[in-house]
Amino acid sequence: MITLIQNGSVVTKEGMQVLDLLFEEDKILQIGHNLKGYDHLIDATNCYVTPGMIDIHVHGGGGHDFMEANLEAFQKATDFHLFHGATSQVPTSISASNEAITAFLNAYKQAMNSNTIKARLVGAHLEGPYLSPDKKGAHPLHFLRHPEFEEYSKWIENYPFVKRMTAAPELEGGLSLGDYLHNQGVNPSIGHSNAYGLTIKDAMNHGYNSVTHLYNAMSTVGLHQGMKAAGVAEMALLEKDLYVELIADLKHVPVELIKLAYLNKTADRLILVSDCLSPAGMGEGQFFLGPENDKVLIDVKDAAYLHNQPTLAGSIATVNQLLKNVVSIGIDFIDAIKMLTITPAKLMKLDHLIGSIETNKCADILIMNEKYDLVHVICQGKIIR
Ligand SMILES: [Zn+2]
Repeated sequence: MITLIQNGSVVTKEGMQVLDLLFEEDKILQIGHNLKGYDHLIDATNCYVTPGMIDIHVHGGGGHDFMEANLEAFQKATDFHLFHGATSQVPTSISASNEAITAFLNAYKQAMNSNTIKARLVGAHLEGPYLSPDKKGAHPLHFLRHPEFEEYSKWIENYPFVKRMTAAPELEGGLSLGDYLHNQGVNPSIGHSNAYGLTIKDAMNHGYNSVTHLYNAMSTVGLHQGMKAAGVAEMALLEKDLYVELIADLKHVPVELIKLAYLNKTADRLILVSDCLSPAGMGEGQFFLGPENDKVLIDVKDAAYLHNQPTLAGSIATVNQLLKNVVSIGIDFIDAIKMLTITPAKLMKLDHLIGSIETNKCADILIMNEKYDLVHVICQGKIIR
């Protein structure tokens, strides 16, 4: 079946213009004016037509956490985020036992092979367990450890869909972890790190090419070995090549610092992520984070906090909300779309398939009204909403 999306303001590499678009199954056939030869018509007059969004850091949603490590959790969480515009998702673990992380990876594999997941699964992200105890955030302290080749090589070799790992490069073994991941085609990301200045430069020379959730759980300028030094936050802004994740839920990062990151990194290196937790879409109350037998209690209000503490545990935002948030603070709409589509696609080395509206690329398309509310979500050529 060939579908025509007619008369929408289509966001392409060249900018935005009113165009028609034809797709069939999971392929964009043609983009142009007055296109004909279709079986199904979607009128997109007065609507934006954008690429599907890519969330490279998401822990769960719709009441389920990927660390539940079963097919149902993967279905419910991916469906929830797909409905809100994340056509591609990178399910993310938290620091846990070897068994719990392996179970998460087995569940990913089961989900991938089940043909029941409607969103595009584009890799797994291991956030931890090789994180700094000084910057643990919501990760359970007793699971943090130094990188151990025996452990991580099994995750990477047995589960080739692992595409990202967040680690603290200053830990003993942190740089050889970076080299190993880089050589295996996995993106090592600096995060939950207490590194300073030269250690961060070193990490970049050992394969680390991104920074996880800028301004959260990382060092900032301060005294290091008796000298003032730049922390991960400043180095992330300074180093042009580093991709940078930013949680744009307007809770994790103040507006001024979002603007500072946007000015420094530009839409070519800044990636908006949800870092979303299971309670998203479930209202306020008490929820759990992490694997079944090692749960962390969280309080959900305007965001998710560690129980009875002011520490943020993650967001309850969807990618569509991230878009609205950054546009509301004055960031250019087309740049905002970039930071949710082609830029993460480039980091994931999937920009030849997804992340932009181009002939022959995958049919992951969003249609939004003038308030950026989603009217339609199309993923892998299927109309989801
Ligand atoms: Zn984190």
